[in-house]
Amino acid sequence: MALIVVKFGGTSVADVARIEVAAGKVAQEVARGNKVVVVVSAMAGVTNQLVAYCDQLGKLYDAREYDAIVASGEQVTSGLMALALQKRGLNARSFQGWQIPIITDDRHGNARVQKINAALLQERLQTGEIIVVPGFQGITADQRITTLGRGGSDTTAVALAAALQADRCDIYTDVDGVYTTDPRIVPKARKIKKISYEEMIEMASLGAKVLQIRSVETAMQDHVAVQVLSTFEDHVGSDLPGTLVVKDEDIMEKNVVTGIAYSRNEAKVTLMKVPDRPGIAAQIFEPMADAAVNVDMIVQNISADSEATDITFTIVATDVPKALKALESIESLKGVEIRVDEDVAKVSIVGIGMISHHGVASLMFRTLADKGINIQVISTSEIKISVLIQKDYMELAVRALHEAYGLEEGG
Ligand code: ADP
Ligand code: ASP
Ligand code: MG
Repeated sequence: MALIVVKFGGTSVADVARIEVAAGKVAQEVARGNKVVVVVSAMAGVTNQLVAYCDQLGKLYDAREYDAIVASGEQVTSGLMALALQKRGLNARSFQGWQIPIITDDRHGNARVQKINAALLQERLQTGEIIVVPGFQGITADQRITTLGRGGSDTTAVALAAALQADRCDIYTDVDGVYTTDPRIVPKARKIKKISYEEMIEMASLGAKVLQIRSVETAMQDHVAVQVLSTFEDHVGSDLPGTLVVKDEDIMEKNVVTGIAYSRNEAKVTLMKVPDRPGIAAQIFEPMADAAVNVDMIVQNISADSEATDITFTIVATDVPKALKALESIESLKGVEIRVDEDVAKVSIVGIGMISHHGVASLMFRTLADKGINIQVISTSEIKISVLIQKDYMELAVRALHEAYGLEEGG
């Protein structure tokens, strides 16, 4: 008998019929003698709709009220899932984030889980109850509702699995595993049987939204065995049909390049002719950090005259209003021209084998050059290389790189 946390994403609970299909998966696990905790997302499209309502009242809203609003989508599906399980004669009930409680910090809209009271859930599991928990939501120490950032239900599931010391956390979604790249862009993409936590963290942070990055960080830290699998195929998680996210040591064959990720939600900001003197970078990036704007790639050009230089960096496109507000408040940038270009995308190759191989970057640059794709910014780490290119070329770049590194089926 195992304890399994299962999570169903938005498309898996998009309507009542699908919720019944998902409940069927839970019922099968219970029939095999397993204890199950179910985490659900909001129905597909609901969170976007709730965010749009907030936006209609102005982009710089009170984030605490934003959370009170957008957390509501998951409350609906948790109740519906409990009813669907009861309809099958199972003993199920929902617990909202605040009822457990799932305590988070107060970074509204992007909160981190700090503590989960596992005692209550343990007790209920012992009585044979199936517990249904809305993903994405928590509560601060001073009783305000929070949300965990877009895609945050994955993190709820993994954090619950860690707190309950579950045997596995199954993430049911609309694809049957993690692929070498998004199968929607490259139909020939190959399903990966096992991927390391480190690679999955890079893939997620570089745009592969199949798992929220924080869920993988939590899994790695707390040694949670995570599986990504499909809601719409016959198997259940205990058959292990999906992709397992595991420790690096558990992977026998280390690929030089495991996967390709992309992100369209990027903006390139260029500050023209910034005074070239010590401390200027700190003066620019500190206010950005204070405004919770994540800066990704940074390039500073060498100045020809030692007096002025251009600084280019990238941020997520949705942070542009916050970033501009922060930049406009900086005294030493008065009169500096700020250019924002949202017509860009980031394409990245990821693989732990890169550490011990050379020629990986040059193949990437050659492949893009042969397709006539101009690279605007490059950044690297031990296990990834990212390039910023014009948005229109993104899909072409992903396909060409996927082929160049031999990632397709049979490649
Ligand atoms: P859910 O609503 O279940 O949380 P998401 O839409 O957040 O599902 O994540 C699943 C989607 O992630 C897939 O439909 C797929 O388009 C996308 N995706 C991006 N990169 C990958 C990848 N490398 N492997 C699998 N899916 C990927
Ligand atoms: N419903 C939330 C979102 O769409 C959380 C999730 O589905 O993981 O971002
Ligand atoms: Mg998701």
